[in-house]
Amino acid sequence: MCIFCKIAKGEIESFVVYEDDRVIAFLDIRPLSKGHTLIIPKEHYENLLEIPAELAKDLANAIKIVCEKLKRLGAEGFNIITNVNEVAGQEIMHAHIHVIPRYSGEESKPISFGNPIECDLEEVHKALKD
Ligand code: 5GP
Ligand code: ZN
Repeated sequence: MCIFCKIAKGEIESFVVYEDDRVIAFLDIRPLSKGHTLIIPKEHYENLLEIPAELAKDLANAIKIVCEKLKRLGAEGFNIITNVNEVAGQEIMHAHIHVIPRYSGEESKPISFGNPIECDLEEVHKALKD
């Protein structure tokens, strides 16, 4: 059983900040900012793309609830991200959404989109538009 399945079942301890029948949210053990939270489906899916639409709605609902809670810490904004597959930096192969609260003046820098690549948008669009 994977580590997040164990957390979902309470077999590994975590700091739970929200829980319902299908979803659980707990503090990331290596926080990028104060209150960095992971939201996961209790059932094992490898990544966000594997999750059925109904469960995705439950996750979206949990994101809103968790963000509202994080405002109690003074969070003024959030980075909400999910990594899909190793190439994108996914380490734990149980779908999870990072909610990273942001505070003005904080030490760690908000996640930002860095240097754009050279890319022919017309060509890319041709492959994607239909
Ligand atoms: P990924 O790179 O897969 O998107 O992120 C996995 C996240 O899970 C990392 O930010 C890491 O700190 C967190 N993490 C890994 N193991 C544990 C654990 O045992 N407990 C908690 N609370 N977080 C974990
Ligand atoms: Zn799992």
